[in-house]
Amino acid sequence: MKLSITTLPGDGVGPEVTAEAVRVLRAVAEIYGHEFTFDEQPVGGEAIRRHGTPLPTSTLDACLAGDAVLLGAVGSPDFDGLPPGERPEAGLLTLRRALGGYANLRPVVCHDALAGCTPLRAERVAGADILVVRELLGGLYFGEPRGFTTGGDGRASAAHNTMRYTVAEVERVARVAFDAALSRRRRVTSVDKANVLETSRLWRETVSRVALDYPSVALEHLYVDACAMHLISDPRRFDVLLTENLFGDILSDEAAVLAGSLALLASASVGGEVDLYEPVHGSAPDIAGRGVANPLGAISSAALLLRHAARLEREAQDIEAAVETVLRAGYRTPDIARGSGGLGAVGTSEMGQRVIEALAEVADMRHAYHAV
Ligand code: NAD
Repeated sequence: MKLSITTLPGDGVGPEVTAEAVRVLRAVAEIYGHEFTFDEQPVGGEAIRRHGTPLPTSTLDACLAGDAVLLGAVGSPDFDGLPPGERPEAGLLTLRRALGGYANLRPVVCHDALAGCTPLRAERVAGADILVVRELLGGLYFGEPRGFTTGGDGRASAAHNTMRYTVAEVERVARVAFDAALSRRRRVTSVDKANVLETSRLWRETVSRVALDYPSVALEHLYVDACAMHLISDPRRFDVLLTENLFGDILSDEAAVLAGSLALLASASVGGEVDLYEPVHGSAPDIAGRGVANPLGAISSAALLLRHAARLEREAQDIEAAVETVLRAGYRTPDIARGSGGLGAVGTSEMGQRVIEALAEVADMRHAYHAV
């Protein structure tokens, strides 16, 4: 398999964690006999420094020309004084829109080894394994009209946003969720506020109709407020959680608590011209440059890239198994060292190295199993 990957390390800890994800991908290529090429491009603050803009045309062109994009993180306090449209984060928003991914996939797993890291009771969260599928290009964040109404004194006297969904927008993201459920535990929970909002009524009707095409997948509908409660009180009841944009933004951050650290979480934005893979965390300027950032979210994003952009399910599963092995063996970066009974903290590159070593073992075991 040949795969050309555009890497956008970005700012802060972005380059540190992306380097480990790329090392793991190179190891996958070597172990399984693939040819991966990497084209590194600037984005965010790094791109402002070099090109005067957070998303240079050359970066966008490279992203559109490749098979997938692997991003680190953007954002730097050096640019806090700039207007919102010129800041590093604006580059990422423009990139997401240009690539056109309408479904954001965020797997949230509470590894048994890390159940003690969460603020929740370990026996409630251990084993939770949820895939949040969030609609990414519609709803309140993009709906028009939007804006302020100005009063007689020239100051804003009111503000308005528009929540709007079309049937087509709901259908396409619902299909992503049901397709994902087919290779998981075959259960979709669709989140809405259908007792109050018309957009939610349309959402519920459309999702129910799509469900008819997936008779082996169980569908339940939950109001967003009830869902927020169940996520914390009984997270293991969920398999695939399907939500519109705003609800998904909030619920996916709530669900992140189950994993033990934001830095463990990966994400994929799919359905557009080229898929975008990135850890959920930001550039973490408070720890950047110290070699202590947790690279597991970036490494898990690389696994998602192989699963979705390259259909290399075996390789994706083996990376995930390697991450699990390393955590079970007790290796911890500082963010997950407390309360999880590890061996003491390791740095970013040692964590990457441990995953690569575990990957080789996982691949050997798979090989031995098939040889028997
Ligand atoms: P953040 O995610 O960068 O950091 C939040 C906390 O998590 C910090 O304590 C940080 O040290 C820790 N953390 C984050 N990543 C970590 C890692 N890999 N290993 C260990 N600990 C980690 O969020 P923030 O502090 O609100 O934002 C910092 C900058 O990042 C801002 O400029 C913000 O706009 C930007 N940001 C970017 C993205 C993105 O690129 N997708 C997402 C969120 C925030």
